[in-house]
Amino acid sequence: MLIEFNDQVVVVSGAGRGIGRTIAERFLAEGATVFALDLAFGAADDGAAPTSADRFVELVCDVSDPASVRSAIATIVERAGRIDVLVNNAGINVEGTIDTLDPDRWRRCFDVNVGGVFLMSQAVIPTMRAQRSGRIVNAASFAAIVPSVGSAAYAASKAAVVQFTRVLAGELGPWGVTVNAYAPGMVPTAMNGFADMDDAAQARLLDTLSLRRWETADDVADVVCFLASRAAGYVTGALIDVSGGKFATQIPAKAYEIAATTD
Ligand code: NAD
Repeated sequence: MLIEFNDQVVVVSGAGRGIGRTIAERFLAEGATVFALDLAFGAADDGAAPTSADRFVELVCDVSDPASVRSAIATIVERAGRIDVLVNNAGINVEGTIDTLDPDRWRRCFDVNVGGVFLMSQAVIPTMRAQRSGRIVNAASFAAIVPSVGSAAYAASKAAVVQFTRVLAGELGPWGVTVNAYAPGMVPTAMNGFADMDDAAQARLLDTLSLRRWETADDVADVVCFLASRAAGYVTGALIDVSGGKFATQIPAKAYEIAATTD
């Protein structure tokens, strides 16, 4: 089997809750030793079930803080001796139109979403180079492909992640390290209010999708595991759209109208 991670060491940032938690637990289920990094763990409202396994280690780490990142990666290398996969999942959403965007929030968005990917990658690269192998998988967003009104900070930061991914793929090719990004569409999590919207607002958003349902964290974990696996050995510098076909056609809802009248 090409998608399994026995004896591999996987680092997932932002793995205290949400999509990152699901990704970390998936790698655990696929046999990896997982280091889950986040600002904090076990908040009463985070919805994450506790994970107990010898191969699952939670480390507090702020990906925007160089000292915190250095310390976390040094701990992992000391304990595990190698790093096969880095998933840069940690990210924050900052909303606001040009008149309302607060400069400090703009900076924080870039510090976490872009700076975090940069610092984490820089920290693991010496280990991956020495191994002459490794996988770096970065969370972009559909906002990097088609942004929404009010998403200037977030969408620009995720577009930066995509270009960073391409540059790094070029720089690390000689060591057999691949670097890819993925673009989820709409996964209801604490980061967004999708699940709390009224039915009409939800329908408006779902009408943008060819696969007309909310995305799950498992949908994302499937793609991340593929990109991290041996099956994706010849994929690098790519942005994989995992958005359920958002805007793949102009009015995807029309297909559902037709389907309703078709056997
Ligand atoms: P979430 O808010 O539920 O989880 C994000 C996690 O990242 C949290 O546990 C948070 O504590 C952690 N985090 C934030 N700042 C951090 C920092 N400085 N250092 C370490 N950890 C930090 O969000 P989510 O919906 O699970 O999103 C995960 C990733 O997927 C993000 O990068 C997000 O931009 C991306 N994404 C999500 C969606 C979606 O629909 N949910 C769509 C596109 C992209």
